[in-house]
Amino acid sequence: MLTRQNCLDLDAADPLAIWRQRFRLPTEVVYLDGNSLGALPAALPVRLHEVMEAQWGCDLIASWNSHGWIDLPLRVGAKIARLMGAAPDEVVAADSVSVNLFKLVAAALRANSDRKVVLTEAEEFPTDLYILQGIADLLPGVEVRIADPGGLEKAMNADVAVMLLSHVHYRTGRMRDMAGLNANAHRLGIYNLWDLSHSVGALDVDLTRDGADLAAGCGYKYLNGGPGAPAYLFVARTLQAQMNNPISGWMGHARPFEFASAYQPAEGIARWLSGTPNILSLAALDVALDVFEGASMAQLQLKSRQLGDLFVALVEQHCGTHDLRLISPHRSKLRGAQVAFAHPNAYAIVRALIDRGVIGDFRVPDAMRFGFSPLYLRFADMWDAVHHLANVLDGEVWRDERYRETARVT
Ligand SMILES: *Cc1c(COP(=O)(O)O)cnc(C)c1O
Repeated sequence: MLTRQNCLDLDAADPLAIWRQRFRLPTEVVYLDGNSLGALPAALPVRLHEVMEAQWGCDLIASWNSHGWIDLPLRVGAKIARLMGAAPDEVVAADSVSVNLFKLVAAALRANSDRKVVLTEAEEFPTDLYILQGIADLLPGVEVRIADPGGLEKAMNADVAVMLLSHVHYRTGRMRDMAGLNANAHRLGIYNLWDLSHSVGALDVDLTRDGADLAAGCGYKYLNGGPGAPAYLFVARTLQAQMNNPISGWMGHARPFEFASAYQPAEGIARWLSGTPNILSLAALDVALDVFEGASMAQLQLKSRQLGDLFVALVEQHCGTHDLRLISPHRSKLRGAQVAFAHPNAYAIVRALIDRGVIGDFRVPDAMRFGFSPLYLRFADMWDAVHHLANVLDGEVWRDERYRETARVT
């Protein structure tokens, strides 16, 4: 039997425990939704205020040079690179994941031009599927091949130009074998493109070691860059000369301020920029990334797995009699920093938990999802969250009418 004291002992021994002070979190809240919107870094409001007052307010347009705004997408990209085993000149921060996926898929198709198939798997994150559908509508002859869950390896062959996969599945938390899939893909001449939205910032991702070609991911989840923060994009250095950004805007031009009529891509990762960077959002993400200083990715991964294991063990201990089914892999080695349980009344349960200060989220059709951001969660939070979950289930609190109406954003 685990006790709350066991959890407090784990917190006392946790080398990452002091990181919580680098965030601003309401005291009465257990925040298990950092995989949807990361918490606010404590230093961010003051620093962002400075950017507005001292840079924009005082120096106005000179700030593009004097405060280095023009290089901010590259500088922020270099900081993100460290979190995923990439070189500083292989990553740029820009746009949204959706737009970056469009750019990368279209570029990979052009670079592998005798092939017409884009491979993905059913139940991938919707925006990934929608972007592929849009590309197939746009480019004659291009076909989206959607493998059945588990049927991916069979669907890989020499017709495939590029495969797009999530490293960690957004709903189940299942983690893919990136190195193994990349090796198979390379043997068949397929480019790999990874959606890292649910990985980077919580797991020990190493794109170089694992042979990744292309990747994109989210700035507002585990990177804590704030709502709608810029996303990032990775192109392996060996591919940078042969791939081109199809959204060939002026910020990706070799010399944007010569105002030449003909497009000429910048060397290196800068060609993946399209329009003017969102400086305020980038500045926020820049500050948020400093929070990672001093923490290794191996530490983050270890703690997020320990939190997940503890949460699952506590649910088994306190909620074992209820109709909850773990839909994430039971072994934490096979999952990302989250777990999900299915329940017929998942939506109402999640709402009742939020009312008690335990913030997780709901994913259709029947999943309650709990994310374990390793930088600001405590082991005792797992105890408190499961304690509330047990109360909601034991007392059938979720039956209350007010937990049934669906909000626009779940
Ligand atoms: C959150 C998330 C995104 C976000 O896409 P945006 O275009 O930045 O809104 C993309 N893919 C996955 C797997 C996600 O979880």
